[in-house]
Amino acid sequence: MIVLTVLALSIIALIFGAQAYLMQNDTVALYLLAIGFISMGLAVYVLVQSRKRMAKMKIETPKIMTTVECRKCDTKNVREFERGDFVFKELDKCDKCDENKIITAIYKIVKEKEKPFTI
Ligand SMILES: [Zn+2]
Repeated sequence: MIVLTVLALSIIALIFGAQAYLMQNDTVALYLLAIGFISMGLAVYVLVQSRKRMAKMKIETPKIMTTVECRKCDTKNVREFERGDFVFKELDKCDKCDENKIITAIYKIVKEKEKPFTI
């Protein structure tokens, strides 16, 4: 919310700058307009960056996957992790043969992250 304050202040600075300009106080007007534009640019930049970050965070919930294999006929299946899954756990019978399927791997899918954004 600091960003919104900065944005508001930059608008105020611009208004005062315009007023100073109308009163022919050029130096003050120049300073105020410069401050206004810089802080507004900064606020917009921070807003855009945090938007991007929020969007990224939503996508980046890591998924846990479980690999289920049948040792007899070499069928491999990857499904989402379920509660109670552990490596080498025996599951129900294979579709193709009578061998029990087992869990051979459990892993997390993590997408590569950008550098964390700091103000
Ligand atoms: Zn099988």
